[in-house]
Amino acid sequence: MARYKGPVCRLCRREGMKLFLKGNRCFSEKCAIEKRNIVPGEHGRDMRGRPRIMGYGQQLREKQKVKRVYGVLERQFRSYFAKAAKKRGVTGELLLQFLERRLDSVVYRLGFAASRTQARQLVRHGHVRVNGRRVNIPSFLVKAGDEVSLQQKIWKNLLVRAAMDAAAGRGVPAWLSLEKNQFKGQVLELPTREHVSLPIEESLVVELYSK
Ligand code: SF4
Repeated sequence: MARYKGPVCRLCRREGMKLFLKGNRCFSEKCAIEKRNIVPGEHGRDMRGRPRIMGYGQQLREKQKVKRVYGVLERQFRSYFAKAAKKRGVTGELLLQFLERRLDSVVYRLGFAASRTQARQLVRHGHVRVNGRRVNIPSFLVKAGDEVSLQQKIWKNLLVRAAMDAAAGRGVPAWLSLEKNQFKGQVLELPTREHVSLPIEESLVVELYSK
């Protein structure tokens, strides 16, 4: 599937906030948002001087932000929205739940990878098991009770080790549990809105698609 292959820090600068797309660098002072929070391609205009967008523009930006955080493209994002809209409950929250339940997102949340992009690679390369069976589809949706683990041959991989060390201080969200020594985690329950800590206004995305 086609993916954005350009500089990811540019995406954060476009949205004017950290989207945490580059692993450990995002938590360091090297982060582009920390260093120079300016809009890309606008001759260095500071984000604080950016005019406040409202209405359609604001809804569009919020949708782009969510898509970029989870690394999904328009078609797949729309299909999550359609599924969320069909389910009983708050559509925006269900949309975020679908995105959080993606296997690449769970691998990242468990700390096995420094970013969702790295997590996607681990899944694609067949290093991830769900309930003991190899699953190489990043968009696979986990369910409550599922066990997600890394295959043993990747346990000593330096990138995985570095990611796990860096994630240790941040912990895992309450809907997951982690057995660090066994490189496995469990989905205790489905994620709810409180488990998504990023400043996302999902209601704006719902408004955009409901037109
Ligand atoms: Fe975004 Fe991370 Fe780059 Fe900072 S380092 S701008 S949070 S991708």
